[in-house]
Amino acid sequence: MPELPEVETIRRQLAPLLEGRVLERLEISDPRWCLPLDPGAVRDAVEGRRIERLDRRGKYLIWELTDEVFLIGHLRMTGTLLYDPPAGTPYERVRFALDDGHELRFCDPRRFGTGELAIGGEARDAFFATRLGIEPLDGALTGAALRELARGRRAPVKAFLLDQRRVAGVGNIYADEALFRAQVHPLREAGSLKRAQYEALAVTVREALTAGLAAGGATIDDFRHADGVYGSFQHEFLVHRREGDPCPVCGTTIRKLVVGGRGTYVCERCQPRPRRRRAA
Ligand SMILES: [Zn+2]
Repeated sequence: MPELPEVETIRRQLAPLLEGRVLERLEISDPRWCLPLDPGAVRDAVEGRRIERLDRRGKYLIWELTDEVFLIGHLRMTGTLLYDPPAGTPYERVRFALDDGHELRFCDPRRFGTGELAIGGEARDAFFATRLGIEPLDGALTGAALRELARGRRAPVKAFLLDQRRVAGVGNIYADEALFRAQVHPLREAGSLKRAQYEALAVTVREALTAGLAAGGATIDDFRHADGVYGSFQHEFLVHRREGDPCPVCGTTIRKLVVGGRGTYVCERCQPRPRRRRAA
């Protein structure tokens, strides 16, 4: 699933192509994309408006249109936004026609991607207030902030990192990579880390995301850039999807565990397994 670096890669590619253009037509061929809204209502709200800015929060892309109309998209599992793709590109669900004759198509084989509307800045802020926590590359992600968010939480630290209401934009890839870099086992209780470990994790979450961004994101399944090119960060994973490989730091064999239902990769020498809690 695309995470923050993948969505930000797309945003950076598309922003110069879309900003300042008028969204002339929105053709929604799969009404499930904007449920519970009616496709006609979404079309009427956005058609003919100028794209002032293409923004991102967490894993959401935000089309800021004239008069504070916001079209908020999420790629979910397999969504891709392709700029002028070849005719016959499959799995098209939505087509965005611009006033300069170019087109953007949202293709999504598994059809989990969504489009939502917010009218006015307050509605946009309210939308994100209930869904997203700290934006990790905006300077707000500190050890103290993580420690405060994790206080008293007994869920595994990996599940804590995946909770978008705590830290926005981190998914399965970048959580594994950040925990490895911080030498923290994913099964540690989120509230049980030492102060220095929260500090380390704040740094390594940013490092992992930044490395992903520099590589144009990771392509495991369907993720592609707006021009159809694949990301390359999957070739730089330290532990994620490297079960059976030697740890790049100590040579111990990387193991795969399941944490919170997600495949999780760990070096249990660099990331010592938590001791079992004594019965109270
Ligand atoms: Zn190791």
